[in-house]
Amino acid sequence: MRILFFGPNGSGKGTQGAILKEKYSIPHIETGVIFRENISKGTELGKQAKEYIDRGELVPDSITIPMVMDRLKQDDCKNGWLLDGFPRNLNQAKELDKALRAEGMDVDIVVEIVLDREIAKKRIMGRRLCVNDNNHPNNIYIDAIKPDGDKCRICGGELKTRSDDQDEAAIDKRHDIYYDTETGTMAAINYFKELSKQSGGKPKIVEVDGRPSVQEVTQELLSKLGN
Ligand code: AMP
Repeated sequence: MRILFFGPNGSGKGTQGAILKEKYSIPHIETGVIFRENISKGTELGKQAKEYIDRGELVPDSITIPMVMDRLKQDDCKNGWLLDGFPRNLNQAKELDKALRAEGMDVDIVVEIVLDREIAKKRIMGRRLCVNDNNHPNNIYIDAIKPDGDKCRICGGELKTRSDDQDEAAIDKRHDIYYDTETGTMAAINYFKELSKQSGGKPKIVEVDGRPSVQEVTQELLSKLGN
């Protein structure tokens, strides 16, 4: 199963993505996480990416696209993958589509969590990251996933914020890119929606309302996905 997972920063993509990873037993590949791991390890890739990430800009396609293509060729991706955070612009969408076709593959499902910009922004600013596990969701503004005091609600680990989550200008920049229907992430989503229309519903398009609670969003997502 090959799944593309879209949603603005702050829409709960990481949380819902972790659930789909379990459901389909496929790796959850998050480009933002790969970049952050490289930054904390001090790799060359991390050094190149950091300045863009701190400003809320996209890391150039010349760095990002080969990085993702290499990741998709690894052994654990043989039975599929869940891509989260990529493609993030129209060019990446086209390049991914082209690379998959060259391998005789295509995307099975496109999930879009729909959420308006203002709500997404508030959620980002409340987000806290568990140092033990990136998939332990904590958010000071969402009752269902409020931290336990200043510790992770799941494992009691230390919590930290992402520097690009507390910088309003960087958040606005990331959302400008996401909601851009000309060349940004919405253009990438529309590219696959158009493909779906032309190819009789492949990939399957699943739109989910991101406003309700985490559990309700999960429920809608799973029921729309079927089995
Ligand atoms: P995220 O964790 O998805 O919010 O990503 C954090 C940052 O990593 C983004 O603001 C970008 O600077 C960078 N990034 C993540 N995915 C991509 C991508 N597909 N293309 C370019 N930059 C990306």
